[in-house]
Amino acid sequence: MSAETIHEPRYTEEIVPFLAGDGRALHLVHLRGVEKADKGPVVLVHGAGVRGNIFRAPVRQTVVDALIEDGYDVWLENWRASMDVEPGEWTLDQAAVLDHPPAIRTVREKTGADKIKAVIHCQGSTSFTMAAVAGLLPEVDLIISNAVSLHPVVPATAKVKLHYAVPLVAQLTPFLDPQWAYGGPTRTARMLTRVVQATHHECENLVCRWTSFTYGTGFPVLWRHENLNAQTHDWLQHEFGPVPFSFFKQMDQCVRAGHLVPVEGFRALPEDLGVREPQTDARFVFFAGEENRCFLAESQRRSFEHLEHFHPGRHALHLLPGYGHLDVFMGKRASQDVFPLILSELDRSALH
Ligand SMILES: [Zn+2]
Repeated sequence: MSAETIHEPRYTEEIVPFLAGDGRALHLVHLRGVEKADKGPVVLVHGAGVRGNIFRAPVRQTVVDALIEDGYDVWLENWRASMDVEPGEWTLDQAAVLDHPPAIRTVREKTGADKIKAVIHCQGSTSFTMAAVAGLLPEVDLIISNAVSLHPVVPATAKVKLHYAVPLVAQLTPFLDPQWAYGGPTRTARMLTRVVQATHHECENLVCRWTSFTYGTGFPVLWRHENLNAQTHDWLQHEFGPVPFSFFKQMDQCVRAGHLVPVEGFRALPEDLGVREPQTDARFVFFAGEENRCFLAESQRRSFEHLEHFHPGRHALHLLPGYGHLDVFMGKRASQDVFPLILSELDRSALH
């Protein structure tokens, strides 16, 4: 890990509140560049237990910078899994039905755009894809998904952990929080921190080690250390918050089924949404780090093949050698290895 020069962002920032379908107070962060954004809005959707800020690691060029410099109007959606909103025991169903549709409607209303593009990551991706294939996001015409979408596939050891360890720990606490690295509020939290200290020795950053304990089995799980600069490895300790067991229990069901499974009984989400024909015209572009230890690249390959079965030639799959999970966005070389692919796929969609 090495130090690098970080430039000041060339955009303004505005918080745009919106209400979820159950009245929960959520918000978008609108990032407006100094130049006119003539390519339209792109909504970035973060994963579990982080926040929209995860797309703005201290690297020379973030994906936000790249999008703005290319002429896009960028919106970060802080949905109910965000550490910047009131915590709760969320599920993917809640996000799919209650959060993403009003978020997209809000961007449409504020921009006047007919069509919206989305860059979605991990559980932002699973829940957003759930909404899209259920026909709840008709305004979205291009979806760039990283890590996992309709078909979660995890390493065998993580599958065992999800099925057997999750129910045990869930009896002690309703959620996990990597911030417990700084001294948890309960006996269980402090006990789990001791477990992390005893089992994870991959680096000096206890939050980094805590994220690996939380999100799978690996050392580390969410990135390859060699892909991060020193500032990012330091910065990420403030970017991880609580994740409820309501989510892990649903993910266990999804992993066992081989595709996403709704658990709340919402009428808007068909039970067989993981296998039926998707109710969306959106073009999907799937990205997966070949070294992803959280969700195997096979996850995205299966979703790509599933969608291609219904619309051959419409979608795309990019496997990224040397990349893991979040380093696809946070990596020190992501601006050279990944963002040009994202920008060219966005341009390709404009030609369709
Ligand atoms: Zn680390």
